[in-house]
Amino acid sequence: MSRLPTLFISHGSPMHAIDKGAVARAWEALAKSLPRPKAILMASAHWETELPSMTGAEHPATIHDFGGFPQELYRIQYPAPGLPALAERARALLKAQGQCSAIDGTRGLDHGAWSPILHMYPEADIPVVQMALQTAMGAAHHLTMGRALAPLADEGVLVIGSGNMTHNLDEAFSAMRNPAMAKPLPYVAEFSAWVKSRIEAHDLDALVDYRRQAPHAARAHPSEEHFLPLHVAIGAAVGQSMGGTMTAERVYSDIELSSLSMDAWAFH
Ligand code: ZN
Repeated sequence: MSRLPTLFISHGSPMHAIDKGAVARAWEALAKSLPRPKAILMASAHWETELPSMTGAEHPATIHDFGGFPQELYRIQYPAPGLPALAERARALLKAQGQCSAIDGTRGLDHGAWSPILHMYPEADIPVVQMALQTAMGAAHHLTMGRALAPLADEGVLVIGSGNMTHNLDEAFSAMRNPAMAKPLPYVAEFSAWVKSRIEAHDLDALVDYRRQAPHAARAHPSEEHFLPLHVAIGAAVGQSMGGTMTAERVYSDIELSSLSMDAWAFH
């Protein structure tokens, strides 16, 4: 089997699960462009733990981890099976690089995982394992974890980081309250363009140091959890070699709710 790319997806509002708009159609087209994976390993912004962790349930529940949305959204089930053997494999790969991790047998799939993949794989017949973030440990840790997991892309596993290219929720909620006034804030495109230029230059050091180097980094990410899945995806693409090469393609770009850059990337 040829090596799969790794992906970074900006999942945006949970409403994308039921609104089949441009971004949902882009996710669907992206999946169709790829060889069918044997399984998916998904690092989601919505699961944070102290110790790196993977879901180990045979049948992970669909978690509705949001409030104040229409009932229709709470009725969604994404019944993809889990794959405990993949959780074990990921754990072994992390251990081989000196990183202890845990398997959580009860955790289900959060909307950072299921809202994009229900468009990508609507049959819910590809096993999904979720992976948690350790936000306090920052970007370097997540790049390292991604590097450790790079062999999975050769084994038919689609590694996806699910977060958002920018994620200022206060600004997004203001845009929701005043939709007539909402327009993309200029800094959002500026930050996304900086990330694009650093990805295309393979400048992993700058991407790790983005909070100091990127324009408006603290405004784009008041907290880091929605950005760190990008580092997991890039790490899993470049692997262990320090000069690791990758071909990167921005497969979707848009700004919604003034402040959410919805960029999606594939790393080959
Ligand atoms: Zn989110």
